[in-house]
Amino acid sequence: MEGTKLWRWLKILKIQNLSFNVDDKEILKEINYTFKPKKIYTILGNNGAGKSTLAKLIMGLTGYYNNHSGEISLDGEAIAHLKVNERAKKGIAYTYQEPVRFKGIRISDYLKVCHTESVIGETELEETLKQVGLNAEYLSRRVDDSLSGGERKRVELASALLMNPKIIFFDEPDSGIDMMSNKMLKDMFIKMKAKGTTVVSITHREEISLIADHALLICNGKLIADDKPEIVNRIYKENCDTCDHPNNPDRTWRG
Ligand code: ADP
Ligand code: MG
Repeated sequence: MEGTKLWRWLKILKIQNLSFNVDDKEILKEINYTFKPKKIYTILGNNGAGKSTLAKLIMGLTGYYNNHSGEISLDGEAIAHLKVNERAKKGIAYTYQEPVRFKGIRISDYLKVCHTESVIGETELEETLKQVGLNAEYLSRRVDDSLSGGERKRVELASALLMNPKIIFFDEPDSGIDMMSNKMLKDMFIKMKAKGTTVVSITHREEISLIADHALLICNGKLIADDKPEIVNRIYKENCDTCDHPNNPDRTWRG
């Protein structure tokens, strides 16, 4: 197997005893987990559980960079001291729950910037937009307020497809997109996995979570379950959907 393909099989993201505090509040507590290559993961948990914080901390976003205890490593190399752009170069990606706007940039230029290889043709850009449910006319539109929330989200998803990262965290990719798009998201995740990317999706949609190889359940900043998605979905439904003590877990399903 040629070198570039080999790393796809070897790289893993490992988090060890990862904790994150803001002032005196513990947001994440001693999280340990290893994401394996070429897998799809889903992260479940009630609002405020710490799902976005975990993804942002791994990405090293402003406010989350270097502001934690514990270790994050990519294929054995410690990366928690690296800045967001350095982590991005190493192949970690994150798409926001609420997509960012770059006023004035044409969608075609935005997508070209996200593309990791040197040259990208119009046909590939059009194909990528098609995969996220947008037609070629959007290439000349601008990434600004003239796009609806759902359209911006779709542009963000198209950019993720072009990044070809080693591991990507999709933070509620389904929010703002109509229910018809479950299939689109599932197809996209499966395609990315086939290309060698590890996909981590934070989602409330059971149908999307069920295509994952593994699911994680976070409550009050703790990883309280990790197993097959069917099992974690059942734990979530039976315990979290009807929870009368949100973000105050009374048990764990790990080990
Ligand atoms: P989730 O994505 O699971 O809904 P978040 O990770 O966004 O939850 O947030 C978890 C908790 O941490 C929330 O109570 C949130 O208000 C708090 N939190 C996250 N980031 C910060 C921050 N930078 N400053 C203060 N509180 C934060
Ligand atoms: Mg969130």
